Amino acid sequence: MPDAASHLPFFYGSISRSEAEEYLKLAGMSDGLFLLRQCLRSLGGYVLSMVHNLQFYHYPIERQLNGTYAIAGGKAHCGPEELCEFYSKDADGLCCTLRKPCNRPSGVEFQPGIFDSMRNNMVREYIRQTWKLEGDALEQAIISQAPQVEKLIATTAHEKMSWYHGTITREEAERRLYSGAQPDGKFLLRERKENSTYALSLIYGKTVYHYRIDQDKSGKYAIPEGTKFDTLWQLVEYLKLKPDGLIYFLKESCPNPNMPSGELILQASFTLSLFLSQAQRRLGTLNADGYTPEPIAGLGKSRILPMDTSVYESPYSDPEELKDKKLFLKREQLMIDEVELGSGNFGCVRKGVYKMRKKQIDVAIKVLKSNNEKAVKDEMMKEAQIMHQLDNPYIVRMIGVCEAESLMLVMEMASGGPLHKFLSSKRDEIPVSNVVELMHQVAIGMKYLEEKNFVHRDLAARNVLLVNQHYAKISDFGLSKALAADDSYYKARTAGKWPLKWYAPECILYHKFSSKSDVWSYGVTMWEAFTYGQKPYKKMKGPEVISFIEQGKRMECPPDCPAEMYKLMQQCWTYKWEDRPGFAAVETIIRSYYYSIAAKTEKGPEEEDKTKAACP
Ligand code: ADP
Ligand code: MG
Repeated sequence: MPDAASHLPFFYGSISRSEAEEYLKLAGMSDGLFLLRQCLRSLGGYVLSMVHNLQFYHYPIERQLNGTYAIAGGKAHCGPEELCEFYSKDADGLCCTLRKPCNRPSGVEFQPGIFDSMRNNMVREYIRQTWKLEGDALEQAIISQAPQVEKLIATTAHEKMSWYHGTITREEAERRLYSGAQPDGKFLLRERKENSTYALSLIYGKTVYHYRIDQDKSGKYAIPEGTKFDTLWQLVEYLKLKPDGLIYFLKESCPNPNMPSGELILQASFTLSLFLSQAQRRLGTLNADGYTPEPIAGLGKSRILPMDTSVYESPYSDPEELKDKKLFLKREQLMIDEVELGSGNFGCVRKGVYKMRKKQIDVAIKVLKSNNEKAVKDEMMKEAQIMHQLDNPYIVRMIGVCEAESLMLVMEMASGGPLHKFLSSKRDEIPVSNVVELMHQVAIGMKYLEEKNFVHRDLAARNVLLVNQHYAKISDFGLSKALAADDSYYKARTAGKWPLKWYAPECILYHKFSSKSDVWSYGVTMWEAFTYGQKPYKKMKGPEVISFIEQGKRMECPPDCPAEMYKLMQQCWTYKWEDRPGFAAVETIIRSYYYSIAAKTEKGPEEEDKTKAACP
């Protein structure tokens, strides 16, 4: 989970004061030379290190409870970048204005700090235990949802820790600590009845010590004189590494006897223990659509995450169901609804229900027109063969095919419909950050395709379907091809009915299709998304678009589209495929932008736009 400053070239991450001074010396010690580093004492805070009259100055930047950043006594800013911009125009109490960024020398990456790895481990453990995910499903959940999960953890995690004992008295705490073995560092955290503050109780040399946990005006927690943290779990994790004023560091959790045993997970030093009640494991079997999430205690607004839906993992991820998995489905297990979800040349897509061993799932059924010729059937079987080999949370999965009144392709349901229609109908409700989130998910799905050596050949907003407002899946593999192991592209013998406006030059000129040409289409899809569903290249016809591109022209930046996202589109539209980034790079770029906007505000990415508006 990168930092809100991770994209800044003058941000060094977790380096010490003396290291910062070394870098400033190396860069020449000119007046106003500055760099930014992580603050080691307050989570989410920074230090601005700068030079004036050959002297070093270090200004701590605190992150306020409302998610803004400020140097003590100075104005608040929405992010570290905005803060630096401000002080480059106005010294406002600093030794001088910021004049020259001391950028990281080439080859020097920013230094991840102790908090970063702590956060990473927590997010991983939380997702693993809440949604019972492992392997790729776990990795993809971390990549796509780290900012959301972090917020979830920050507000509620301590209540699920084995060491959290709720409201008990000092005497009861002592009784619990003295019962059983009494190793140094055995501890618990309790809430104090009076004024609902917290206390830490710790054994050392067979004696229990109690420490009050103070909360400052901005809501940060600390033991008196100690390092301040935004949340109690961070404080405890930190005190496990450093005593920071305690008589001993926290070592062993004294487990709360009121937490049902068996579900209690004890931790090794760095991974955390999370106790998650069944209520917290919010669902898994409910349908993706029509689901209203239960608010989680302590969390104001909760939103449904991809992992909460029934289509995050394959229905065959259950070993019981896997036993029945075959390409051809039995007609009697399939119920077809009258409702039409969409249509195309092949016929229409109907809603339906597929009966499995243990559950019934909502499905979308692509039904071939009844008078179907062999060639059309073969086409659909090819599509089915491709989809059969894919399994990713951000790709519409095929359940199987069914040959009955006509040939049918049965897929998992994405009831939100195509991306461009969704965005154009909900323009005012969907902030740009939500669009970034969805396009990041498309990048995850495409990166998976690239790794598996498949080319999609029809990536467009019309073929990105939504499960809900925060969950997108790539669909329509009608033109897709699996590449042979040592091929990097597919060569079409003849041109067909092609979506030219989405195609890279080499597709049109040489009929060469690769993941790199899918990247071009991804750029066009991004443009469609950031315009909230407009048609690319206006009224131009296919051949006009080709000459437009040949002249080196590209579509303009959509209104209100972040500069970073337009820059990525332009990279996707690199003329030569050899110079174009692949999906691994595209995903990394959009991920880091997505995380940076999510990290900028405490309230979460949905609120980003309003926060922006409130900032000078
Ligand atoms: P075509 O090859 O004709 O473009 P698509 O596979 O894109 O066919 O499907 C056409 C339409 O059917 C989509 O735009 C969408 O509205 C609907 N549809 C397709 N697949 C699904 C699905 N899995 N869930 C919900 N709707 C779907
Ligand atoms: Mg389509």
